Amino acid sequence: MRELVEQLTSLGRLDNVSLKALLSQCAKDDHVLQLLRDSAVRTAREQFGLGIYIRGLIELSSYCRCDCLYCGLRRSNRSAERYRLTHDEVMECCKEGYRLGFRTFVLQGGEDGTHTDRWLTELVATMRREYPDVAITLSLGERGEESYRALYEAGANRYLLRHEAANEELYESLHPAGRGLRHRLDCLESLKRIGYQTGMGMMIGVKGQTIDHIVEDLQLIERMRPEMVGIGPFLPHRATPLGGEPAGDLRLVLAAVAIVRLMLPKALIPSTTALATLSPTGRLEGILSGANVVMPNLSPSDIRAKYAIYENKASWGKEAAEGLSALEAELQTIGYHIDYARGDFNF
Ligand code: SAM
Repeated sequence: MRELVEQLTSLGRLDNVSLKALLSQCAKDDHVLQLLRDSAVRTAREQFGLGIYIRGLIELSSYCRCDCLYCGLRRSNRSAERYRLTHDEVMECCKEGYRLGFRTFVLQGGEDGTHTDRWLTELVATMRREYPDVAITLSLGERGEESYRALYEAGANRYLLRHEAANEELYESLHPAGRGLRHRLDCLESLKRIGYQTGMGMMIGVKGQTIDHIVEDLQLIERMRPEMVGIGPFLPHRATPLGGEPAGDLRLVLAAVAIVRLMLPKALIPSTTALATLSPTGRLEGILSGANVVMPNLSPSDIRAKYAIYENKASWGKEAAEGLSALEAELQTIGYHIDYARGDFNF
C-alpha cells in the first residue's frame, strides 16, 4: 500500500484497481489511512501553508423543487419548514460577514422557483457593488447556461455543484425525479466554459454506493479537474426515504478527501459541515486529511434550523460565523490558523 500512496503522490493519479485497493484498505487499516492522510497533509501544506480559508455560508432558501431521496429539503418533505431570505436580509448577512472578516460569501439554497435570473442577478450585482473585494460563490443547483452567464456577468466568481454520483444507475436511484446525470455534468461544463471556479463532489455512504462507485467519482473528479471539491458523509434525515439508513463512514470520507488532495494539489477542499456533524473532531480530521477550507454559517440565526438537509446539522459554535475565535482556537490546537484572504484558486 505504501507504493500506491507514493505513486498517487508523485503522479496525481492511480488506475481504478489500485484506487479500489487503497480505499478498501483505508476502511479497515489505520496505518494505511494514516500514511495516505500524512501525504495529503504534506501536499496541502506545500500549497497553502498552515492557513485555512473561511467562506461565509448564507442559506438563501429552503424551498426546493427537487426530490433528492437523501435531502431534508426535498419537495415531498411536507414537514420541512420553508423560508426564503429577502434581498435585504442577505445584504445584512454580508454586512455582518464582512465586518467579521469574511472575503468570500457563499449563497446556497434549494432550487427555489421564485429565484428568477432577475432577482438573483440584482442581488449578486448589489453584493458586487457594495463589496468589490469579496468572492461571490453560488450554489443554487441546476440552471440554464444563460442564467449562469448572467450571474457571472453580475459579479459571481465561483459555483458549487456537486455531481453527487458519477455512476448513472446510482445517480438515477437517488434522483428519480431529477434531470439526469448528463444534465448535471452539462451544467458543470457550462460553468467551466463561462469562467467560474467550479466545485464538484459527492457524499460518502449514501444508500447503494459501493467502493467501486467512489472510485468512479474520484476518477471523474480527476478528469474534470474542478477548482473546488466538496466531500462529506451522508447523514440521514428522518423525513426522507433514506431516514433509516446509517451515516457515511468517517474513514472513507477522510480517505476520499486525502486522495483528492493528492490528485489535485491546488484544489480548494472544505472540511465540510457534515464531517463536523458526524464527529466532534471531524472538522480537524478533515484538515488533517488535506482539506484547507471551512464554511461557517452566516445565515440569520432564526432560520438556521430550518435549512435542515440532514438532522442535527452543526451551525452553532465553531460552525457559526460569530464563533470565529472558537474556530481559531480549535485550529491552533493542530498548529493551523484562519487565513482571512479571499482564497481564489491559484491557476
Ligand atoms: N440545491 C443545490 C444543489 O443541488 O447543488 C445546493 C443545495 S444542496 C442541499 C447542497 C448539498 O447538500 C448537496 O450537494 C448534497 O450533496 C448535500 N446533502 C443533501 N442532503 C444531504 C444529506 N442527507 N447528507 C449529507 N449531505 C447532504
